[in-house]
Amino acid sequence: MKRLDKDEALSLYSNAPLGELCERAQKARFAHVPGRRVSYQIDRNVNYTNVCLSGCKFCNFHCRPDEPEKAYTLTFEDYLPKIAELRALGGDQLLLQGGLHPRYGIDFYETLFRRLKEVDPDLKLNALGPPEIAHIARLSRMTYREVLVRLRDAGLDTLPGAGAEILADRVRRFLSPAKPSAQQWLDVMREAHALGMSTTATMVYGHIETLAERIDHLLALRALQDDRPAGAPGFRAFICWPMQLTGTALARMAAEGRLPEGISLPGEPRRWLPDEEFLRTIAIARLVLDNVDHIQASWLTVGLPTGLRALSAGADDMGSIMIEENVVSSAGSRHTLDEMPGQTGHDGLPGQDEGFRGQDEGLRGNDYGAGCPEDNPDAGAHTTGKGSLADPAGAHSSLADPAGARNLRAAIISAGFTPWLRDQQYNAR
Ligand code: SF4
Repeated sequence: MKRLDKDEALSLYSNAPLGELCERAQKARFAHVPGRRVSYQIDRNVNYTNVCLSGCKFCNFHCRPDEPEKAYTLTFEDYLPKIAELRALGGDQLLLQGGLHPRYGIDFYETLFRRLKEVDPDLKLNALGPPEIAHIARLSRMTYREVLVRLRDAGLDTLPGAGAEILADRVRRFLSPAKPSAQQWLDVMREAHALGMSTTATMVYGHIETLAERIDHLLALRALQDDRPAGAPGFRAFICWPMQLTGTALARMAAEGRLPEGISLPGEPRRWLPDEEFLRTIAIARLVLDNVDHIQASWLTVGLPTGLRALSAGADDMGSIMIEENVVSSAGSRHTLDEMPGQTGHDGLPGQDEGFRGQDEGLRGNDYGAGCPEDNPDAGAHTTGKGSLADPAGAHSSLADPAGARNLRAAIISAGFTPWLRDQQYNAR
């Protein structure tokens, strides 16, 4: 399949009929992942601290160090029941996410990772992300490579692609000016790939960015993946989701007319209903990222029915049955495995499914996926907002229970695919 350039990708993304776009994406999906297998994972998201210097305008999760009534850092003892519960539910991994803490340098994370591995040597640690690595490097006066090597030796297994949002400095300077630049995000990932570390790539869309900036983001990921050393996994998967804006400073600024000149929310007039925008974004990511094997359907943010539709738009992975999720959920996303086929409306948008129905026909007619019939019915990373945590140690957990995996498997089967449980390296468990 010929590689898409920027103009071709932007034209397809913007103009192609949804069914045609999804059909092309499904061809590419089956070239990467033959057969009708759809993978999923059981892990637990643990937000080890909410103290962060960055102050991103889309983030309800963080608080400043001088807010003692809100600030928390988990104690080591807080992790022990979380690990026990994770294991009891069949999980194998902690996704550790927090903020850019003013005092937590390399020693803090080395100690934490070593102690966690002492408790459970087989536990996988999928932790931090490029912003944290860059922050630790600055605090501890180290290179990115030195930080990654020390953390890997302390127990870091894989590096999530968190904090990418949109890799365009126009966007980042406004949304998250204290966060590492687009180039710094890519530089950390380049070092991780050079060390043979497995990572993921993310994109958070639907805020102030343009469609062209979304395509540039995908092209930057593709170019970096091209540069990985021979035999290195690089980005194992790509995950995208719409930004959750409820209660964020960005949403308030927009509502109050306080966005500066040249910045608008959304960045371009909305062309599509949210479900279609998600499916189009999954499909174009599959087509542009021709060197990344796995595309996740981020059902935790878009809802299970839409996540399942993404399996006919190029996605091959349902992500995690996340046992605890505090970040995206605090900015408006609270989808669970209780959502099964036939539900209507997501994100409080009345009539959304009705508006989408005509598009389903185009999907149903292709030869590759199961289609998206109405009787047929995976995150994110750590980077969108959350509010204060009434119970940080326990959080508002339990998006999964012992039935969670069964429900997700049943949903995958109902969409015409074969579920299989994987680890973070996409090996069968
Ligand atoms: S998104 Fe991440 S880096 Fe930005 S303020 Fe929130 S916790 Fe900090």
